[in-house]
Amino acid sequence: MNDINEKNAGLSIKLENLTKIFTDKRGNETLAVDALNVVIPPGQLVSLLGPSGCGKSTTLYMIAGLLRPSDGKIYFGDNDVTRVSPDKRGIGLVFQNYALYPHMTVRQNILFPLENMNIQREEALKLALEMAELVGISDQLDKKPAELSGGQQQRVAIARALVKKPDVLLLDEPLSNLDARLRLQMREEIKRIQRETGITTIFVTHDQEEAMSISDLMIVLDFGKEQQMDSPQQIYYNPKNMFVAKFLGSPPINTSTAEVINKEIKINGLVLDKTNAKDGKYNIGIRPEDFRIVQNGVFNFKHDEVEIEVIGRDTMIRFNFGGSQVRAIVDSDSILDKDELSIGV
Ligand code: ATP
Repeated sequence: MNDINEKNAGLSIKLENLTKIFTDKRGNETLAVDALNVVIPPGQLVSLLGPSGCGKSTTLYMIAGLLRPSDGKIYFGDNDVTRVSPDKRGIGLVFQNYALYPHMTVRQNILFPLENMNIQREEALKLALEMAELVGISDQLDKKPAELSGGQQQRVAIARALVKKPDVLLLDEPLSNLDARLRLQMREEIKRIQRETGITTIFVTHDQEEAMSISDLMIVLDFGKEQQMDSPQQIYYNPKNMFVAKFLGSPPINTSTAEVINKEIKINGLVLDKTNAKDGKYNIGIRPEDFRIVQNGVFNFKHDEVEIEVIGRDTMIRFNFGGSQVRAIVDSDSILDKDELSIGV
């Protein structure tokens, strides 16, 4: 762990073949995390994203030391911490339910992790105040958790996790219990706190929009396996596989089989676009927002042949093509006063 008065410089985290198999009383096995190999650069905010049951929390708990891996190793910087106990790993943990001590004041909650350390009372109070200021609750120090809003309680939990100046901050769905407005506000706050402290942070969420907005890097998991680790932009625009493509985006990406013949992409005989890809069959995905209303587009409809839903500035057009429903999102202005719609990509 760093000197308690130092600003954190951030540590890298390396997961090497990290694996967790749960075995129940009858001997049935669940492969929760399947040979993860990941290097998280120092000072980054990385989200673990994936559907329910994909192994996000299990991965986080192994990094925290709360669960023992079945196989593989965990390094913080150059140190192999796989067998180091949680309190010696230099981590701060924040859970979904905040886990504050209800009988203690905010100040006492933040001070708690410092109790068994060899720190003078005055110094500890100074650190607690510094953390309370960092997370914006220094005017609430004498209150009990029950007297605070959900967002304020989560700020206390973050201050408490950071007071020992850990090398690594681990957050397990920290915003799930907050209402929509507070979630937005708190995710900006977490980003700010992470930038100001420079602490390497892992953030577990199943909310793709949250992950996209907050992360420097995202790790997408499915069935305990890494599907892609990249920046949010790369994950969205250059997904490595169909799972990643379909998991990200709302409304979801439209998918189809297509054929490339002489540099033309064809779906059901219609020429969709040009490409440099080799001739052959492909799975393709088109994001709803990649469609445009144009002069001579690929898809041509009368107004009553499609479903139109105005969502403010954007309009969603649903149409059938090749036996499946396609969703296109276009600028609402672009369909005004048009009897016939010509849609291009
Ligand atoms: P969620 O988003 O629903 O919290 P998750 O991605 O965090 O899901 P995990 O909680 O890591 O997923 O669970 C991964 C898999 O391991 C699931 O199949 C789950 O049922 C199983 N699992 C988790 N904890 C245990 C346990 N203590 N004993 C047995 N199986 C477990």
